[in-house]
Amino acid sequence: MYFREFINFPLVFRNRTGRGLLQIPVNMAKAKCHRCEEKCGKSKVTPEELHRLEVGYKSFLRSDSKSLLRKYLTKDVFDKLKYKKTAFGSSLLDCVQSGFQNPDSNVGIYAADADSYVVFSDIFNPIIQDYHVGFKQTDNHPALDFGCVDKVGNVDPKGDYVISTRVRCGRSVEGYPFAPSISQSQLWELESKMMAVLSDLPGELKGTYYPLSGMTREVQQNLIDDHFLFKEGDRFLQSANACRFWPEGRGIYHNANKTFLVWVNEEDHLRIISLQKGGDLGATYKRFVMGVNEIEKKVRFMRHERLGYLTFCPTNLGTAIRASVHIKIPKLASNMNKLNEIAEKYHLQIRGTSGEHTEAQGGVYDISNKRRLGLTEYEVIQEMYHGIVELIKHERGS
Ligand code: ADP
Ligand code: MG
Repeated sequence: MYFREFINFPLVFRNRTGRGLLQIPVNMAKAKCHRCEEKCGKSKVTPEELHRLEVGYKSFLRSDSKSLLRKYLTKDVFDKLKYKKTAFGSSLLDCVQSGFQNPDSNVGIYAADADSYVVFSDIFNPIIQDYHVGFKQTDNHPALDFGCVDKVGNVDPKGDYVISTRVRCGRSVEGYPFAPSISQSQLWELESKMMAVLSDLPGELKGTYYPLSGMTREVQQNLIDDHFLFKEGDRFLQSANACRFWPEGRGIYHNANKTFLVWVNEEDHLRIISLQKGGDLGATYKRFVMGVNEIEKKVRFMRHERLGYLTFCPTNLGTAIRASVHIKIPKLASNMNKLNEIAEKYHLQIRGTSGEHTEAQGGVYDISNKRRLGLTEYEVIQEMYHGIVELIKHERGS
């Protein structure tokens, strides 16, 4: 696989003209272990790491966690995986520490690097199958298919319920480790590579990149409050070791009217986002597809033949698309059991107004597709479209 090539050599990247060569220190080689590259399962985990794993697991078992990690990390699976390391030197602890420290997680596991999905597949696969509702361990994610963007409609043509619509995907850039393993110089390198790519975007996508470091608190908070910028200090990401060197190498790109945005080095290397007022999912999706295609002309994204686009969190694998509306549904919201029942039936996920792990404010919910893996991009958008239309039907009482 692509990352094997990097194990024994310094990372070398060509700049955009293909002339200059840049050498990157190979911080991931620090725990290089030929045995573990072969996935022999023999220990290169230090006694201290093993101790932390054992202690963490014991206390996790005593918690009342309802996470998927708690459901699937049985003693047998734990014992099988606790000695293993990935080719980048990540252990099981690197993947589960957030779940151990936050028993209230829904999922509780992150891939410390791309190889984690292979080496720790005994825990990732059942969690992936459960989250992505039916994506079996023998299934392959389909090829990319954005479908006919002009066929996607407006979920709320009368504008009665939907405040705004957003479609985003996560992308990881080939040659760079995930957040817990990426070095500061790699963060900077990736950021400048992306600045160059983004500065070339055409037409409606044209915009400006704003680095997080040096941004005033006030500007940052305004962007967060307006739902354009990622928030800071997410405890789930922090305990997954995903916020190292913050705010270095992080930033946001957006076009003039903030309908096309790219987050650099937040949870994933890239989040590509299209956002606008109202319920016109078709227009939002069309801009999103245009943006992803333009960026992909210049950047190679990591893709796994079975799992699709690789992302830090297993919930984002596959298409890595989350299509959401901010919606006011007061009648349904007064009966959360009913709302949850409909959401489950149509594979929708309900979040609060400021995103994951937040509460709804003023009755505004963020409702999106839950599944991203095992169906095409177009099918994801269709699933979300039909789910939201049904939800609105119930709210109307028709
Ligand atoms: P993601 O899955 O993209 O990481 P989060 O739940 O972390 O999403 O939310 C990121 C930001 O996107 C938050 O500010 C959230 O309010 C905003 N957001 C999500 N969906 C919408 C939407 N339909 N309209 C406006 N803002 C949205
Ligand atoms: Mg997020």
